[in-house]
Amino acid sequence: MNIILMGLPGAGKGTQAERIVETFNIPHISTGDMFRAAIKNETELGKKAKSFMDQGNLVPDEITIGIVRERLSKEDCAKGFLLDGFPRTVPQAEALSSMLKELGRELDHVINIDVHRDLLIERLTGRWICSTCGASYHTVFNPPKVEGICDKDGSKLFQRDDDKEEVVAQRLDVNISQAKLLMDYYSNEGILRTINGEREIQEVFEDIAALLRG
Ligand code: ADP
Ligand code: ADP
Repeated sequence: MNIILMGLPGAGKGTQAERIVETFNIPHISTGDMFRAAIKNETELGKKAKSFMDQGNLVPDEITIGIVRERLSKEDCAKGFLLDGFPRTVPQAEALSSMLKELGRELDHVINIDVHRDLLIERLTGRWICSTCGASYHTVFNPPKVEGICDKDGSKLFQRDDDKEEVVAQRLDVNISQAKLLMDYYSNEGILRTINGEREIQEVFEDIAALLRG
C-alpha cells in the first residue's frame, strides 16, 4: 500500500502516521523527521535544512526530493510506504510521480487531514515531542501520563523550535498557499480524499483506516 498523508502543520499527520504504520505494517517516511535527525547529527543535509526550518520556510525542492528518492529506493519500501509531509509542493508531487513510475509503482491513497487555522495554532503551540521516538503529545489534547516524559520509552519530551509562537504563523502561511495547489493537483488526478481532522485522535484514525481498507 503506497500512501500520502497530507495536512497543514498540526493537522495530526504524525499522530495518525504512528497508528497507520503499526496497523498496516509499512514504513513511515517523514521528511520533517529526516531533516530533524540530520540536524541533530550535524550532517551536511542538516546544515542546509536548518536555516529554512528555523524560519518556518520550506526546504528547497531539490534537497527534499533527493532525500525521498534515496529513502524510497530502500528495500523496506518494497511492501509499501506512508509518506508524511511529502510532497508539499507541486514540483515535489511531479518528482514523486516520476520516481514511482521508474519503480513501477502507483499511489493507492492520498489522504488530506483537514483542520482550521485557529485550531492548528493551538495544536502546534502545545505540542511536545519525544526526543527518542518522535511521538507527538499535546499539553491539553493528548498529554503524556507523566509530564514531560514519553509514555512509550520514558525519554524526555521537548518543544520544537519551529513550534514557538513567532514561527508558527509564517509556517502556516507558507504551507497554506502550497497546500491549495497540491490539493488541486491530486484532485485532478481523482485520488484525493479529505478527512475531518477536528475530532478525537481515535475517531480520525478509524475514518482513515476504513478508507485504507477500502
Ligand atoms: P503534524 O504531524 O500534522 O504536524 P501532529 O500529529 O504532530 O501534527 O499533531 C500536532 C499536535 O496536535 C500534537 O500536539 C498532537 O498531540 C495534537 N493532535 C493530533 N491530533 C489531534 C486530534 N485529533 N485532536 C487533538 N489534538 C491532536
Ligand atoms: P509539520 O509538523 O509542520 O507538518 P514537519 O515535521 O513535517 O512539520 O516539517 C518541519 C519542517 O521541515 C517544515 O517546516 C519544512 O521546513 C521542512 N520540511 C518538511 N517536509 C518538507 C517538504 N516536503 N518540503 C519542504 N520542506 C519540508
